[in-house]
Amino acid sequence: MQALTTRSKVASNKKMTFVEKLYIPAILGGLRITLNHFFKKKVTIQYPEQKREFAPVFRGQHVLKRDENGAERCTACGLCAVACPAEAITMTAAERKPGEESLYREEKYASVYEINMLRCIFCGLCEEACPKEAIFLTDRIVDTEYVRQNLVFGKDKLVEPINNRIDVSVRETKETREFKTHPGYAHNKLYTKPSKA
Ligand code: SF4
Ligand code: SF4
Repeated sequence: MQALTTRSKVASNKKMTFVEKLYIPAILGGLRITLNHFFKKKVTIQYPEQKREFAPVFRGQHVLKRDENGAERCTACGLCAVACPAEAITMTAAERKPGEESLYREEKYASVYEINMLRCIFCGLCEEACPKEAIFLTDRIVDTEYVRQNLVFGKDKLVEPINNRIDVSVRETKETREFKTHPGYAHNKLYTKPSKA
């Protein structure tokens, strides 16, 4: 049978020689490999003191954006949840009451919005599906946790703080806006209102 790699070795149960039984050549061989790596350029970094530069397309922790007046943009339409292949998003819709116009941009909003970060695969499909430019993935890393339940992020962790806006301009490119609005794309035609007779 043809070997799958050139590095495969035929296993043998031949008896070890006296020198092999001393293990000294094997130990010296191991030390030589360690020393070789000692003087090579390190591939690891001292995280979190040092951080790697992310690629522009990096997708990390989500943010639910507010509009320029500070109102939540999400209208609880559910398209992000439908688009999510990991079924990580759940929400509860509520109706905006008179006087809440400064809190929620649309008449309907998400009173509960949760993303299960253990399920999420950071594919970005929720961001692509959102017609309200409400959800974006950012360059923030999701914190580690000891308790699984704490990784179900609610609005307290997802909605952007009003005094600490999160810049998502790298993800709001001309191309992505065109992708969501261009009348030539089938996914935009689905939502075109029928013309009045
Ligand atoms: S990034 Fe992908 S997996 Fe994560 S919540 Fe959005 S659609 Fe779901
Ligand atoms: S984040 Fe966007 S797609 Fe998801 S429910 Fe809100 S408005 Fe709809």
